[in-house]
Amino acid sequence: MAKVAINLSTGALQQEEVIVGIDLGTTNSLVAYIHPEDKKPIAINDQGQGTIVPSVVHFTDTGETVVGTAAKDYLITDPANTIYSVKRLLGKSYQDLGAHKDYFGYKVIDDDSEGLVKVRVKNTFYSPIELSAEILKELRARAEHALKTPVNRAVITVPAYFNDSQRQATRDAGKLAGLEVLRIVNEPTAAALAYGIGIDPNEEKTVAVYDLGGGTFDISILSIHQGIFEVLSTHGDTYLGGDDFDRAIINHWIQENQLIADTVNLDKNLSQELRLKAEEAKKVLSSQQVYTSSIEGKMECHLERHTFEALIAPIVTRTIESCRQAMSDAKLQPEQVDAVIMVGGSTRVPMVYEAVSEFFGRPANNTLNPDEVVALGAAIQADILAGNRKDILLLDVTPLTLGIETMGGLMDPIIPRNSKIPTKAGRQYTTSIDGQVNMKISVYQGERDVVHENRKLAEFDLKGIPAMPAGFPKVDVNFILNADGILKVEAIELRSGTHQEVEVKPQYGLTDAQVEQMLLDSITHAREDVNARMIIEARTTADQMLYQVERFLEKNGEYLTEEEIQLTRQNVQQLKDVLASGGDKDAILTAVDVLEEQTSPFAERVMQISIKKAMSGKKIE
Ligand code: AMP
Repeated sequence: MAKVAINLSTGALQQEEVIVGIDLGTTNSLVAYIHPEDKKPIAINDQGQGTIVPSVVHFTDTGETVVGTAAKDYLITDPANTIYSVKRLLGKSYQDLGAHKDYFGYKVIDDDSEGLVKVRVKNTFYSPIELSAEILKELRARAEHALKTPVNRAVITVPAYFNDSQRQATRDAGKLAGLEVLRIVNEPTAAALAYGIGIDPNEEKTVAVYDLGGGTFDISILSIHQGIFEVLSTHGDTYLGGDDFDRAIINHWIQENQLIADTVNLDKNLSQELRLKAEEAKKVLSSQQVYTSSIEGKMECHLERHTFEALIAPIVTRTIESCRQAMSDAKLQPEQVDAVIMVGGSTRVPMVYEAVSEFFGRPANNTLNPDEVVALGAAIQADILAGNRKDILLLDVTPLTLGIETMGGLMDPIIPRNSKIPTKAGRQYTTSIDGQVNMKISVYQGERDVVHENRKLAEFDLKGIPAMPAGFPKVDVNFILNADGILKVEAIELRSGTHQEVEVKPQYGLTDAQVEQMLLDSITHAREDVNARMIIEARTTADQMLYQVERFLEKNGEYLTEEEIQLTRQNVQQLKDVLASGGDKDAILTAVDVLEEQTSPFAERVMQISIKKAMSGKKIE
């Protein structure tokens, strides 16, 4: 039962709104929610139809849509009007599809005007967003029907490798289905949450999520640190999965029965029956050693588990190779992984489970239903966003950009406004002066290009940088914004390990109206800010140039002629004059150019001389 509340102003009964978690999959989709009594995530099974909704949309002759199991049957009888795997098209251009253009049984159109593909059904063009929205509408309807309450808000999962355009497309599909998408969550993150990993903000873990579905395979390595899920690496194959196991079985049976593949393929009914038998055999062999059946009068379908394993071994090996690659990309050894999570129906194959457990050197987690685990995690995330878990506070997005001051008083954004939080981002900086041993880190918040128009949050000195030439030290500045909106800024000089950090609360003391005003200001002053930034950048370039040239004259003056030194000093003075007179950016950059053109041959000359010097002491055989 959903909770009931009374609206005190109208006296009307209000049902507390449920926020659902949705796994919008390539082959299958699911919707889940947190049961209000036992607080456990549960996949919605409306009217006993099962929790899994095949991600298939069929358009009937009268233009109506049928989604799910009922639509699946039309894949064979009416492929042109039956759309599957639409997730593969989301946020993609025709070019992105590359070699896989012919994979689809329906018409995929190259739409030049928008760059993104469209699907043609009869005489109507649908975007993958609209088609995904059909699946989401069906999930929403099932949830509303089963829970007897309106469902207007959702968390939707996407693969960790989805880019911005694919994530945005998923968000838009939700919008079209009448859902406010509170958060787009990575599928492996949701799977980890479903296993309770990452819920305690003090937990630090490295997790591998192995996801083998019907048609796709992903491995993701996550690092969980202070409630932040960071994707360290992903690998996989978007055209590899349980369907390949089925195909291997079909080919084996065709050979055993001494049939000709082309003849079987031409017989639509036979090939369809064969496909179903192969999938059945595969599933039976997940719990038994032998499968025996037949297709009446046409062929014997017999398979033993060890034969099946020999058939699929090359496919399983490919997934393990992907795991190896992902670990190497994450710069980790398998034994550094704290938990391995199994996702996707094909992880029920014992050989897959064993191969993955063996690779990571620990038993993989498979206690939750691998088809449901992502949706269950999405429901947990939804519950957190609904504020039902007081122990965890997840803010949606950061309202203002966070950054640091760089040369000339410019704002260098590190975490852009509207970033999901918790989040973590960083950048590397270096020194601008030889022998510089301190670096001032000033942290600002706001949208303006020049820091003095923004709000200063903190300032600290990174002290004890070993004296090195300018540009040598490597200073990593990291911003870690946790779920409570607390920003930790840390600076580390990598060569020496010198380290310093501060904590600030960016939201402290700011009202919504002030945030709004700050955003408004950034729009009003956009042009002014861009000009200011360009002048500051030009002045910074000039300062650096002057510093380099003067240092060069000091060190290497002996290799230059008197006239050359004279001319250099003249050009240096000219640049200094332009700077002093407050010249515009073009005047500054012109003077920089003159100086640069005149002095650049000097560096080469000095290099040649030092090479000659170094060689003169050595014999070359
Ligand atoms: P998913 O895309 O995650 O829904 O995974 C669907 C894939 O899992 C399909 O290829 C199914 O045939 C496969 N699958 C489902 N149940 C089993 C099972 N018991 N044993 C082996 N494969 C299964």
